[in-house]
Amino acid sequence: MTNQPLDASTPKSNSTQQDTNGLTLTQFQSVIHTMFFEKDQSRGIEGTFMWFMEEVGELASALRDNNDRENLAEEFADVLAWLATMANVAGIDLEQAVTRKYVQGCPRCHQTVCTCDLSRKP
Ligand SMILES: [Zn+2]
Repeated sequence: MTNQPLDASTPKSNSTQQDTNGLTLTQFQSVIHTMFFEKDQSRGIEGTFMWFMEEVGELASALRDNNDRENLAEEFADVLAWLATMANVAGIDLEQAVTRKYVQGCPRCHQTVCTCDLSRKP
């Protein structure tokens, strides 16, 4: 990830599978849709959420181990993939959602660099 702000003006691309070297969030969600949607839809949101939570647990273990960077990166990828899967099943456009909520700054304090109290969730 970069620290560049998301560009809300970037046009959505329909070519999702040719450019796998640096995907936008929309492209990634579309790749996941193509790969898994039929199974995801038949499993349903509850079953999908359980798999997502299992992946979150695996990410927690990888973060705790902290000595296998490759595995840690894979666990981040898995969590994002399962999040994209859930968004597909729920009919949510992730790129649009994060752009609306975060491009204008912190959702609570509205600053580009959050100034919310550390003890509160931003
Ligand atoms: Zn804030």
